[in-house]
Amino acid sequence: IKKALIIGSGIAGIAASIRLAVKGYQVEVFEANSYPGGKLSQTDIGGYRFDAGPSLFTESHLVDELFILAGKNPRDYFEYQKLEAICQYFWEDGKRLTAWSDIDRFAEEVETKLGEPAKHTREALRQSAYIFQHLAPLFMERSLHRLSTWTSPQALQSYFKMGKLGIFSTMNQANEKRFSNPKLIQLFNRYATYNGSDPYQTPATLNIIPHLEFGRGAYFPKKGMHDITISLFHLSKSLGVKFHFESKVDEILVENGKAVGLSCKGKRFLADIVINNMDMVNAYKTILHAQKQPKRLLKQPKSSSALIFYWGVKKNFPELGLHNILFSDDYKEEFNCIFKKRSIHPDPTVYINVTSTMKPDDAPAGCMNWFTMINVPNNQGQDWDGLVNEARWHVIAKINRMLKTDLESLIEVEETLDPRSIELKTSSAHGALYGNSSNNRFAAFLRHANFSSDIKNLYFCGGSVHPGGGIPLSLMSAKIMCDMV
Ligand code: FAD
Repeated sequence: IKKALIIGSGIAGIAASIRLAVKGYQVEVFEANSYPGGKLSQTDIGGYRFDAGPSLFTESHLVDELFILAGKNPRDYFEYQKLEAICQYFWEDGKRLTAWSDIDRFAEEVETKLGEPAKHTREALRQSAYIFQHLAPLFMERSLHRLSTWTSPQALQSYFKMGKLGIFSTMNQANEKRFSNPKLIQLFNRYATYNGSDPYQTPATLNIIPHLEFGRGAYFPKKGMHDITISLFHLSKSLGVKFHFESKVDEILVENGKAVGLSCKGKRFLADIVINNMDMVNAYKTILHAQKQPKRLLKQPKSSSALIFYWGVKKNFPELGLHNILFSDDYKEEFNCIFKKRSIHPDPTVYINVTSTMKPDDAPAGCMNWFTMINVPNNQGQDWDGLVNEARWHVIAKINRMLKTDLESLIEVEETLDPRSIELKTSSAHGALYGNSSNNRFAAFLRHANFSSDIKNLYFCGGSVHPGGGIPLSLMSAKIMCDMV
């Protein structure tokens, strides 16, 4: 029986463990933390539960697929519901808008509230679906580092459509061309942040993202986002996978050009294959430090990071849904601050995720659990204590203005997560949320492959390798990787 060792129990590490166990491997997972899930974890603070990182769940079938692979009915183990209202949008001038998952209803809402003809919204979402249809099979479902991908029928079809797929303009340019209302341009530009990029730099190809929400669906797991981790962790264990927690791997063992195992806490563990789920930049600095370094790939600019305030708020705000966006009045300058000045804009776009609107036991009665997040630059040694203090003040002032409240007096419990603590907890280089940014049109080609071309039997999965960051792509990375084994 063949043996596989996995470094990291991020969502891709867990998915890989399930896929390899199903293939008949004996699998062991080594995790530095005392809990599984990496970024996809949770935190309890004084009677409030918070999902610690990801809050938006798309491509739910990728989770179901793992249960099905293991011969189980996903609905017996993991439940989720489709969101009817995807997001509540708020602007400083008092305008509000609900993004309904039903495209016609959303397009009508946009026309009524913002005066932009409904057909423009419908057309934008049709274009988003078109990009998805042509690029997903090529960039998301296969390795870009195998010749067979480039000679596949899908690839040949896509070559003729490159112009229409938005490679030659930025997301903002494409959205400005399509819409006349600046608020709607802003709303569609926001999708660049779904993989930590800048809409004023990233190619319009990223207009693929709205289709994930509107075309394929946005969901909420009934027990919260953390249940994605927990249900898959239990599935993995039921297949015989062994997890070692508080077990930080020191080195991947390589002999005669082959990965033969790993060392952890002074012990050697041997295996037929080794899979790394740890962020690649930090992996090359630590567990692969003695190996040849792919310098160009490691130098690629990283995605943005986040500053999060977990606030227990002792009041109910009926105007808030699960996902809420309080937009900045100067979006361009906000991204200029994040990606060029590497600082935080005084009027940041504030995202408030309130799972207690869906799952009331996440907060005491009459209260709400606010996961309040702003996009910030990744960690380059800025004065974070100063930046966090200042940003907290700006965020509270903005919420007070826009929701007409006095938030400070309502905050019962509070914890903060910033780029430094994200790196500390998950080993993500510079605290970036999604590995490399997609701010240039070559970014997709400059992610690390799912296998090592120098070291045999060494494979990679997770948000810092192909096809990229976010839960769906991390799950895809595990699938692409396991298909190669
Ligand atoms: P990670 O979660 O990065 O975990 C890696 C694991 O490896 C960690 O547990 C770490 O402890 C372990 N490890 C590292 N080094 C070692 C070592 N030497 N030995 C042993 N173990 C080690 N995605 C979405 O789809 N939707 C969202 O709404 C969303 N929002 C986000 C918000 C925030 C604040 C954050 C932080 C991320 C968000 N993401 C979102 C991105 C998503 O969380 C990640 O892309 C995804 O979870 C990455 O999974 P991964 O498999 O790469 O592993």
